Amino acid sequence: LRYTHLFFDLDHTLWDFDRASEATLRSLWEEYNLASRGLSDFEAFAASYARHNEALWTRFRTGQIGREELRWKRHWLALLDFGLADSRLAYELSAGYLELLPTQKFLVPGAPELLAHVVDRYRLHLITNGFATTQWQKLSAAGIAHYFEEMITSERSGSVKPRREIFEFALRTCGADCGGSLMIGDAVDVDIAGALGAGMDAAWYNPNRLPRGVHKPTYEVARLEELMPLL
Ligand SMILES: [Mg+2]
Repeated sequence: LRYTHLFFDLDHTLWDFDRASEATLRSLWEEYNLASRGLSDFEAFAASYARHNEALWTRFRTGQIGREELRWKRHWLALLDFGLADSRLAYELSAGYLELLPTQKFLVPGAPELLAHVVDRYRLHLITNGFATTQWQKLSAAGIAHYFEEMITSERSGSVKPRREIFEFALRTCGADCGGSLMIGDAVDVDIAGALGAGMDAAWYNPNRLPRGVHKPTYEVARLEELMPLL
């Protein structure tokens, strides 16, 4: 076998963040009866939240905002899109969202099969920009926590994907060398560019067949199952 260690991204790679987030927002939308407060179209609300969340995560990754601002502003801005300037409601939605989201069990199609296929052949770890307690909750809820030895987070490493420091920290922590390690992730400019920059091989899970741009992943697959014959 060419590799000893496999490093996985979690959100959108193994754990189906989009389905989980939508289910969480729908629960909150019902609990807070948001339809009666001007947010009658759930799909539009969810799309607005997703847009603001993505933009704020980009700012978080580049150090322009902190964790707390990221967490509540995505709700505040989504509510604002519907004319609801209610900061208290935004804070309540934020707290509810953080509590409920990691209890969702949705996995990306093929993730259970892939993990079962590789667990006896490699040592498995996670490299995630998410928060450790939240990420462990997701793994436990989805029943896949037992597959992983180490979870490398931004807080633990003092760095953030795609910076090379977090990948080097991961290699050191796991006793791995870059030649024997493969990173598997969905974000080409975060997971893939970062891993390649640290000298690791990288497999890009690209279900939406996005253009790869300047990056040259070692492997590219549209379904996780396509990694099984390679590993
Ligand atoms: Mg991801």
